This record gives sequence, C-alpha cells and structure tokens, in this order.
Amino acid sequence: MLVLHDTATLQHETVELLGAKLIPALESPERIRAIVSALEGSNHKVLTVDHSAPSESGHDSRAPNALVDHFLASTHDAGYIEHLRTVHTRWVAGGLVQPDETVLPEAFPHRGLFTAGQQIGAKMEPPKDVFALAGYYAFDMSTGISSKTWVAARASANLAAEGARLVVAEDQNRSILALCRPPGHHCTTKVAGGYCYINNAVIAVAALRFHVSQLTGSRPSHPRIVILDLDFHHGNGTQDFFYDDPSVLYVSIHGLHEYPYYSGFEDEIGGGDGVGFNLNLPLAPRSSSAEYLEMVAKAMEAIAKYEPSHVILSLGFDTFVTDPLGSFQLDTEDYAKIACRIRSDEAIKHAPSLILLEGGYVIEKLGDNVLAFLQGWEEPEKSVSQEE
Ligand SMILES: [Zn+2]
Repeated sequence: MLVLHDTATLQHETVELLGAKLIPALESPERIRAIVSALEGSNHKVLTVDHSAPSESGHDSRAPNALVDHFLASTHDAGYIEHLRTVHTRWVAGGLVQPDETVLPEAFPHRGLFTAGQQIGAKMEPPKDVFALAGYYAFDMSTGISSKTWVAARASANLAAEGARLVVAEDQNRSILALCRPPGHHCTTKVAGGYCYINNAVIAVAALRFHVSQLTGSRPSHPRIVILDLDFHHGNGTQDFFYDDPSVLYVSIHGLHEYPYYSGFEDEIGGGDGVGFNLNLPLAPRSSSAEYLEMVAKAMEAIAKYEPSHVILSLGFDTFVTDPLGSFQLDTEDYAKIACRIRSDEAIKHAPSLILLEGGYVIEKLGDNVLAFLQGWEEPEKSVSQEE
C-alpha cells in the first residue's frame, strides 16, 4: 500500500492533564516513528510528503500543499484557525509560558453558565484575554498547544488532502494510508479536543469532492462517501460536521460511555436531510474480537445499503488489548481479520479508499498492528486462510 508521511507531524509535542497528573501527552511523535520504522522493513511504500514545499517544485502544480489552506478555510472557523496558528506565540510574548512549554486552558464556556440568559451564550464572542482564549477554543485538557502544533496539524491535514487527491487520481481499487498526526476525529471545526486540532476526515471529504469535480469537469458530481470510524473513541467532531449531510454516511464502532462521554449513542441518527446517515455502534468495555467483528458486520450491512463511491477510514489502534486509553480485547491478528472483513465486502471491494490514522497508544505494538491491518486489507485471502 502507498503510505503518506510528513516529518513535520513529528514536531508537535505537548503535555496533558490525565487523571490528576500533568504528563507528556500519550499522543507522541514516537507513535509515528514506530509505524514508519515497521513499514520501512515491509513491502509497503512510504512516500514522504512535504507540506511546506512550494507547489511549483512539486510533481503536480495542483499539489494540496497549496490547496490545503483552501480546504481549511472552507471547512474550519477562521478565528479558530488563527488561534491555532498564533496562540503559542502570543502566550510567550505575554510571559504566560516559556517557548518550550504548552498552552493549556484554564476555563471553558460551560453550557450551565447560560441557563439564565441563553442570548449571552448564543452571541458569545472570543474573550479579549489571550489567556482565556485557550479554553474558548478547546473542550478538554488533552489538546495543549506547543510552538510546533500548528505546523504539525496543518501537515497532518495536508496528508489527508494529498491522500484524497491520489485515491481520486489513480485507478479504482486504490487504497492509501495517511499517517496523520495529530489525529482529527474529536475536534469540531471550531473547538479542539482529544488530541485533535484539525478534523482530517472533514478535510479529506472536502478534498475528495474537489478532485472528483476536477475530473468530471463541468458535470456535477456527487461522490457518496462513507466514513467508517474504527478508533476506540467516538468521533464526535466528524459526526458533528456531517450530521445533517446525506452525502456522507458516518458509521462508528466505539466504547460505550467512554471518552468523549457526551456523544456516540445509538439514538444519534443524523438531523434534517441527514436523518438515517449517522450510525453509532457502541460496544461495552472489554468487548472481545468476536463481538467487535459482529459490529463490523452490522456496519458493513449499512454501508452496503448506502452504496458508497468512496471510503474514508478513521483508523485508531486504541482498540488494542493493552491500550491505556481503551478497553477492548483486540490483539494484533484481529486487525488482519477486521481489515479483511471490511475490504472483501462487495459493497466497498473496489471503492477508492483513504485510511486516516487516528489514535493508538501502545507504541511497541503499533507497527505490528498497522502491518496486520494492511495485510488483511490487501490480501484478504491470506488473512482468511490464517484464520482457519
Ligand atoms: Zn481514540
């Protein structure tokens, strides 16, 4: 498989509040280093993408290192993007952090603040105090901002956009893995959270639509996109963005009552025109691989009915048995079975597919787990025979 990587994604390093401790964030550059190192010894091809290269020097003048800003502007809040880009510098200038320290929020605009005056909440504007901005644009304390967070987040988004361009440009049946870091499925397009700053799946959809329309010229084109989210945690940000949109089916298998706690329930079925195009399949903590595969079968049933033209996978490996942030019982060989079950399904067998990396925090097993998944995806026959 073609795997896209950008070394700029390694530059983001932060601290987070976990339990009662301020610790180096579990979402670390070592995750990507471990995966790249495992891929380099395999038959997969790692292509290094440079988000900062001027597009003229690239192999294609339409390279999304120029386009990614367009996709960001058309999907994410302008004030939020400006915040991600500048808040660390502003905190350093104000003496609030040292250059090597992390911006973390103090106060959040909690919904309970506005029960006596809904209008105040409705017209709530960004606070004037740069110290308070950190809480206005985040919903938790796992999304600190360091000096390189913006560079890495934009590079991560660019990998999603470049992956979308390549799956559209190439023949059918093409699958690409984008080693996105930071991940994306928890942030909305105006609030960071859960290690996520830019929603890479949202960027990928924008890029897919753009490149499909380029191919079809003036003829209107309506790709039918399914986003299948296999991270242990519910992709609240992705669900939120496409909730009313019938041209994107969002399907998520995740831990019930786990982070991010306030979404991911079965009765969230989409709104407006999007009713019926949002499917949450929560699983109890400690679910086994057999229980997980049953949910995958349910997911594929819904996806088959939808008849997607393109597939986006939000793929997290925090479903692994010993993951510190998950509680499922999946082992390395289960990833091959899961990938095989999905890719060999007639519904998506030939659909161009873009796989975006989300979470997964057992660094010493990440490489093996990614390789197992890719093997199951690309060689379903082999995975099935191993299963028998
Ligand atoms: Zn996760």
